[in-house]
Amino acid sequence: MPARKIAVIGAGYVGLTTAATLAAAGHGVTCVDVDRDKVAELRAGRVALLEPDLPELVAAGRRAGLLRFTARLPDALLPPHPPDLVFVCVPTPRGEGGAADVSIVEAVARDLGRLLPPGAAVVLKSTVPVGTADRVRGLLRRPDLPVLSHPEFLSEGSAVHDCRHPDRLVIGAGTTPADRAAARRLADLYTDLAAPVLLTGNASAELIKYAANAFLAVKLSYANTLAELCESVGADIGDVGRGLGLDPRIAPAHLRPSPGWGGPCLPKDTHALLDLARTRQIGFPLVRAALETNDRQHHRIADKVRTAAGGCLDGVRIAVYGLAFKAGTADTRDSPALAVARLLHAQGAELTVYDPAAANPAGPDDWYQTADNPYTAAKAATVVAVLTEWPEFARLDWALISQLMHRPHVVDARRILDPEALEACGLTVSTVGRGTR
Ligand code: NAD
Repeated sequence: MPARKIAVIGAGYVGLTTAATLAAAGHGVTCVDVDRDKVAELRAGRVALLEPDLPELVAAGRRAGLLRFTARLPDALLPPHPPDLVFVCVPTPRGEGGAADVSIVEAVARDLGRLLPPGAAVVLKSTVPVGTADRVRGLLRRPDLPVLSHPEFLSEGSAVHDCRHPDRLVIGAGTTPADRAAARRLADLYTDLAAPVLLTGNASAELIKYAANAFLAVKLSYANTLAELCESVGADIGDVGRGLGLDPRIAPAHLRPSPGWGGPCLPKDTHALLDLARTRQIGFPLVRAALETNDRQHHRIADKVRTAAGGCLDGVRIAVYGLAFKAGTADTRDSPALAVARLLHAQGAELTVYDPAAANPAGPDDWYQTADNPYTAAKAATVVAVLTEWPEFARLDWALISQLMHRPHVVDARRILDPEALEACGLTVSTVGRGTR
């Protein structure tokens, strides 16, 4: 595999991980971000993202002289660093009506059209709606520049591992010889990886990403409704999920109950797929039901907390354990923990939140307090609500927590605690997906 010169636009979860992984494979990478503070931090060797191995990988890339950071796009595109491939890894947030907002991708495309020297290929790694590659071609106004769709499937909390050991690499290209040659050039980056490379058209590659995330959303909502059914019929979602997951057609992941699914991708991508279907007059009730079920799950967990508190939350102190959308990340974007906390707050609960990693995103009109440890959070609380599956929550001194609380109730919305051990500490425990018959 020849070493390539690569520009990566956007130094977030996807961009920084992509840049560092490519540099580790021996390519020369210039990573550009509009956030000057972030670039200054990265240049000083500091990585703000909580991702295992990422700081080490970034440091190694910089030491080897293969990884540079800049806040100026021309520095990443013009000599002495003209790239062979430009990876676009900028945000595509949920826009009006659920459609993805691709305005940043479009602005980047205009800049690339002005600045890119001949011979480079544009690689869209951001999650973008079907048709974006064609739209980018139009905005570039440069028929000489191939546009590839190369969606990313990494998960936060295991981003480096996922980039090094992907399940599959999807590369979508147009029909021109230049696009096809660029797709092969991109595929050559991955010859050392065991993952299958799927070469498709642009539209298929774009759709695969949305289809994958919406499918996961459906599976998660399916598990949460099954958990509700388990509670009603005396079954246990732990056993039911295991029994289901052993079928290779189903697979074990995403069958655990939760307070709902969230994060920066699943909700926005599910909405975007629904929006795409709507524009083609295709109903997609299955995906819509997954979203509705998710919303209901937030309410179901909030109801469990209210029940544990004795039926009324007004003025009741609740300790919320976990704010991140899942364990292993500090990311709270579209977090189910936040969604449940908001429902509790709306019913008058006084919330104290503890999360081992997530920052306080509540903003100026703080509607909850934060504690810097779980014991302070539990003081005088009537219920501890465990909303993120941080493994350390299972290892807390629950006997001490029980003593600190006003009334010792725990709602374990992630099923990470041992109810018998907690009950032995004097706590009453309410969980999800376990019936009592
Ligand atoms: P992020 O918010 O972590 O990072 C995006 C970065 O882009 C930020 O640092 C921001 O400052 C920078 N940026 C914004 N506008 C820019 C511009 N004009 N030029 C240069 N930099 C710019 O986002 P992310 O999580 O890395 O997601 C990026 C894309 O990848 C999105 O489309 C997302 O849906 C997709 N994706 C994300 C994940 C994930 O788990 N986070 C997984 C797969 C795909």
